[in-house]
Amino acid sequence: MKQSQLLYKSLKDAPKEADIVSHKLLLRGDFVSQLASGIYSFLPLGFMVLKKIEGIIRYEMTKIGAQEVFLPALQPKSIWEKTNRWDKMDPPLFKLKDRHQKEFALGSTHEEVVTSLVLSRIQSYKDLPLALFQIQDKFRNEMRFTGGLLRTREFLMKDLYSFHKDKDEFDSFFDRVIKSYENIFKRCGINALKSEASGGVFTSETTYEFQAVSEVGEDRIIYCPKCNWAANLEVVKVKTDNKCQKCGSRLVPANSIELGHTFRLGTKYSKFFDLTFIDKDGTKKNPIMGCYGIGLGRLMAAIVEFNNDKKGIIWPKETAPFMIHFIQLENDRKVKAYAEKIYNGLIKGKIEVLYDDRDDKTIGEKFAEADLIGIPYRVLISKKTLAKDSVEVKKRDKDNVKLIKIKDIYKEFEKSL
Ligand SMILES: [Zn+2]
Repeated sequence: MKQSQLLYKSLKDAPKEADIVSHKLLLRGDFVSQLASGIYSFLPLGFMVLKKIEGIIRYEMTKIGAQEVFLPALQPKSIWEKTNRWDKMDPPLFKLKDRHQKEFALGSTHEEVVTSLVLSRIQSYKDLPLALFQIQDKFRNEMRFTGGLLRTREFLMKDLYSFHKDKDEFDSFFDRVIKSYENIFKRCGINALKSEASGGVFTSETTYEFQAVSEVGEDRIIYCPKCNWAANLEVVKVKTDNKCQKCGSRLVPANSIELGHTFRLGTKYSKFFDLTFIDKDGTKKNPIMGCYGIGLGRLMAAIVEFNNDKKGIIWPKETAPFMIHFIQLENDRKVKAYAEKIYNGLIKGKIEVLYDDRDDKTIGEKFAEADLIGIPYRVLISKKTLAKDSVEVKKRDKDNVKLIKIKDIYKEFEKSL
């Protein structure tokens, strides 16, 4: 991608309404743009990051045997009445009427839809286990929305639903989801703690949240800095002066960002919908269900919260919009000719590169914007480097630079593929 053609306009200063680092940097780097309170557009750079996060999640979900589907956001009142949740959701549902005065909701979750979907498709124990996931927009009628992408009214979410013949099968799948969540957050450059919680409106059994300790988080947890045991303070009765049950170290209270959750739904929804299967012994049973979510926009904001410096964002490689920010220093014919050649070579080699070919920016502006956008490698070409048949390579999170020969560029970066 040539930067001269990219829909992108950086800001020197963040707008006043942005009060946390991730919100400021994502607005300044033109990754996102606010349409209304709690409602955001993703610009090309932001959408590229979102697609990278999606790719990580999709890979990890597929690895545990989940199949991807795409369920409607527009949902009829009738399915919500089956579970008595039409008026009971918190936050309340966004409700609307069609031209025939029929009532609908914009989905804030999809238990109702997914359970109706599998009703005619799960009949025997042989049809189980079944795990379905989707990556789709959710709508939440929040009281307030703060912190940029941390709490919004419309957001992309990965939600996974699983159906099982018995508790053993459910428990082993639940453990696999926990492991896949750990992989996802690790690949995103975030230390997320598996935190004990109760399931809120879903269930009274113990479930888990994935919490990242952060001043800007709206959740309160208590955790053990030594062994990483953690629990949500709102739902788990733990005294703050308590010692860790696991290792005896002193527990620390902290603000945190909830990045993911896992719920044991039991047979609640399968009973509401009369979803049954015939087990091996010929008896009719309700499948045990689980649901598991990750908000992608919030995850993107959290990645920025934990990966930045004074100059801007430092994207972990797997979530970066591009691998290389290739900068042409002077508007010189020879430099430009070489730069075009290198750029085309990198594209041909399938290395993701943003080429700063702009003629109307100073060196200082180009460097400042590269640091703000936060692509992992900055590769510079100038008259000076060209005199040595080289380009200058710098990692975003390091100060030192090195020269590499133009003929070796592909070899240098192919390992990042
Ligand atoms: Zn501990």
